[in-house]
Amino acid sequence: MPHRSGGKEENMNLSKIVKEKLGKDLKNCTNQEIYITLLRQIKEMAAEKVTNDGKKKLYYISAEFLIGKLLSNNLINLGIYEEVKKELSEAGKELTEIEEIELEPSLGNGGLGRLAACFLDSIATLGLNGDGVGLNYHYGLFKQVFENHLQKETPNPWITETSWLNRTEKTYTISFGGFDVTSRMYDIDVLGYDNRTTKLHLFDVESVDESMVGETIDFDKKEIEKNLTLFLYPDDSDDDGRLLRVYQQYFMVSNAARLILDEAVERGSDLYDLADYATVQINDTHPSMVIPELIRLLQERGILMDDAVRIVSKVCAYTNHTILAEALEKWPVHFMTKAVPQLMPIIRELDNQIRKKVSDESTYIIKDDLVHMAHMDIHYGYSVNGVAYLHTEILKNTELNNFYKLYPEKFNNKTNGITFRRWLMSCNPELSAMITELIGEGWKKDAEELEKLGQFTEDDSVLERLLAVKHEKKVQLRKFLKDSQNIGIDTDSIIDIQVKRLHEYKRQQMNALYVIHKYFEIKSGKKPARPITVLFGAKAAPAYTIAKDIIHLILCLQEVINRDAEVSPYLKVVMVENYNVTLAERLIPACDISEQISLASKEASGTSNMKFMLNGAVTLGTRDGANVEIAELVGEDNIFSFGEDSQTVIDRYAREDYDPKAYYEKDADIKKAVDFIISDTMKKVGNEESLQRLYDELLGKDWFMTFPDFKEYLEAKEKIYHAYEDRKAWAKKMLVNISKAGFFSSDRTIAQYNAEIWNLEK
Ligand SMILES: *Cc1c(COP(=O)(O)O)cnc(C)c1O
Repeated sequence: MPHRSGGKEENMNLSKIVKEKLGKDLKNCTNQEIYITLLRQIKEMAAEKVTNDGKKKLYYISAEFLIGKLLSNNLINLGIYEEVKKELSEAGKELTEIEEIELEPSLGNGGLGRLAACFLDSIATLGLNGDGVGLNYHYGLFKQVFENHLQKETPNPWITETSWLNRTEKTYTISFGGFDVTSRMYDIDVLGYDNRTTKLHLFDVESVDESMVGETIDFDKKEIEKNLTLFLYPDDSDDDGRLLRVYQQYFMVSNAARLILDEAVERGSDLYDLADYATVQINDTHPSMVIPELIRLLQERGILMDDAVRIVSKVCAYTNHTILAEALEKWPVHFMTKAVPQLMPIIRELDNQIRKKVSDESTYIIKDDLVHMAHMDIHYGYSVNGVAYLHTEILKNTELNNFYKLYPEKFNNKTNGITFRRWLMSCNPELSAMITELIGEGWKKDAEELEKLGQFTEDDSVLERLLAVKHEKKVQLRKFLKDSQNIGIDTDSIIDIQVKRLHEYKRQQMNALYVIHKYFEIKSGKKPARPITVLFGAKAAPAYTIAKDIIHLILCLQEVINRDAEVSPYLKVVMVENYNVTLAERLIPACDISEQISLASKEASGTSNMKFMLNGAVTLGTRDGANVEIAELVGEDNIFSFGEDSQTVIDRYAREDYDPKAYYEKDADIKKAVDFIISDTMKKVGNEESLQRLYDELLGKDWFMTFPDFKEYLEAKEKIYHAYEDRKAWAKKMLVNISKAGFFSSDRTIAQYNAEIWNLEK
């Protein structure tokens, strides 16, 4: 039995350590010196912690782990955050300034990667035997900079002496068609809250060459030995880029598969009983090749094909994260033959076995010379889960209905969650302290205890304090945005935020159209009761033209409105640069209104909706993803829902009769807002081609149906802004949202994964 090394027993005398290591007083150290000392000390403490060494182990394989900065979180999870903060402030140092030394690794794109990071925190906290496996991208996704109101992508390096990576001695030889590479495993310790640790294993290629990259994210995509781990999601608008993604995926899962088999054998597996020693969670389709790779490696170790297939089918489980067709990866057979020829015979055999058993051709793995990765996962995995109730229902009844009919028992739902350590305790210590004062510490380990806050909904002093904390977080945000991006915001305004990847289905364009609508209203003399700040943050995929056009639209609006003396006192639009976890941690606690306005049926779950709710923002949202579950928990009085429901949308797509032009011509508000995109006012500050393209896209296609929901969106916005003015009633809504957020703790999600999919020993 592993012993519990409780964080409460930990302590750290930073002054003493600094004296020993650096020979000076804490107050005379630079922030850099303090950061490095803390980093090394925490790494040592992590190494002494105990991991669960139960028989069965989980491998959570994911192309993304958007872990964020780790210093504060690790201090919290070690139980020494307050102590260190106090010691620092006594020496005239600020923990928040020391944190600035740390570079945020951009090892993820958005929700998918952030989910994986929250899951690792909960796996460690629940004391489960499970590690993350991914890739060590040297330049991450990219760093976003704005130039002339356009997104530019630059490399985002993070591997320096300030990073949390630990080099290990684990290396493998990985073979591709025609050449081999040597891999090396790097680890990041994942500290559970007041408990044990697990690890995030990030594989790298020894021959990686950072010098292939200059100021931009362009590089020679053909030199695989050198470029394999430079970037997450390299541009896939050409064949070389797509092929590189196949190389990356195989590299990730071949390393993972070798690690899994090595560790299982070490712990006593004869490999026929692999399922008793290992379970693999395939996070989205990027790691799907782990299935044929495990089969191949088992064959190499002398196991017959049929046996290997049986063994692996009891080991792998698949999580689906989207119903957007473009995200269900299909790789051309000739790519696979070139990059990983050793896998193709296995994939063909897997396909043949399905063709013999199953008559429904739509479920075959190889069709039209494309390998359907998700189909392989579903046929040869033992579990298929969606990530919110509505999403799983849509998978079962629509998107994956043909598979559901074959394997109803495999399908299950695991509504996403977030770690409250990062998304409340770390990013909002003021609110955490208030909650603890009201209901005690219990909620930190059992998030459902937040329900106890329900008893204070009529307590005026509690409601007033809640509003005061929100205001304090706005003041902090104002300072942060001023210092880091030279943006000013009004702390007495309503802070209305939409932060998430830029995608048409998330409909940032609808929010932008609202801003235009409001701009005209103010110009015509209809002033809002209180100034409004509409904040956006989003990266667009480098090859996603329309997404970049939407960023351009928002940045142009920001300038047009800023410059307009009539409007700017009442309305401000801000697009923050390089939205990432660090920014999310600043923005979310200061938010009043959480924009969750995806086209119903398209957002699998969302997790920022949960972070906002937990920090006392009120949701303005469609009935999509986990918003449905939020609405059910808080009740209709405490959320502002609008728009067509998912079934209506699904039917509309089936009828193929949506005509945006008809809405444009019928609805004067839509026409006026859309026409403004290509007005002289906008063209003067913006790029005519980009604005015109977006205008044409909206009028000619509007694939994610902005216009049918626009009228209801306007009404919902007015309603929620009006509701904000009854401060007491609003504070009550805030409190109800916080008190009902417990369900969205990733501790709950992970407990369900374990009980219903993994079955690991505690
Ligand atoms: C939580 C989070 C996301 C996911 O946001 P959604 O609104 O659920 O898409 C994306 N990026 C960052 C940095 C996050 O923290």
